[in-house]
Amino acid sequence: MTGLSAELNAALGRLADAEHLLVALDFDGTLAPFVDNPDDSRAIPEAAEAVARLLDVSHTTVAFVSGRAVDSLQRASQAPDGILLVGSHGAEYRFDGVDTHPPLGDADLARVATLSVALEEVSAAHPGTWIEAKPAGFALHTRHLDGHAENAANDAARAAAEAAGVPAKVRDGKNVIEFSVLSVTKGDAIRHLRDYTGATAVLYAGDDVTDEDAFAVLGDGDLSLKCGEGDSVARYRVATPADVADVLARLAELRAATGR
Ligand SMILES: [Mg+2]
Repeated sequence: MTGLSAELNAALGRLADAEHLLVALDFDGTLAPFVDNPDDSRAIPEAAEAVARLLDVSHTTVAFVSGRAVDSLQRASQAPDGILLVGSHGAEYRFDGVDTHPPLGDADLARVATLSVALEEVSAAHPGTWIEAKPAGFALHTRHLDGHAENAANDAARAAAEAAGVPAKVRDGKNVIEFSVLSVTKGDAIRHLRDYTGATAVLYAGDDVTDEDAFAVLGDGDLSLKCGEGDSVARYRVATPADVADVLARLAELRAATGR
């Protein structure tokens, strides 16, 4: 724990005094080193241990906030019970085992309407398919189709969404293709996590460009920690996931010492 700067140590000390602390963490590149196959990515043991210690402290919530789909995040992070998961850069929440997603803004609602028209046309042109309305988009179901017809319907749906100019996240499932219009960022996720947990202070650590959105919504009483190189608005910076683990371990130690 001696590798932390005096300034960072002091900031952690202030954070440890928070009434309710939210520790929100990116996963890949922040807790886990990059590996060739994303399925093999795991948090380094020191990071996993520090997270477990933070989870044990009362009035302290830990969240993982990743670009991964939430299922993939849960698998890779092997997240213990009690960790709040945010996937797809803020478009998927899994809190206490319940999957939800953020509310839609006006721009998102307009995209849903446009997408609806485009996909209804596709469904009409591909008999046997049907559209299911999802809170943030639509699913085109194809399970009554043979493989060739299914591929044709999927291709047509993708093309129609693109032609409609709707930037949608596309997910291929088994006999279903889903389009979601959510245009959220990790910053939206941090705002939601703050409200959901009632946190009075937030630590966010991340390594990538999309983490900048999260750093940007932090305030004076919060702590932003960039891992690795590259431009960042984060106040503090460390080099590697091992350093992030050190920071988290130190925070757990300070937080536990407050008697919580
Ligand atoms: Mg990352």
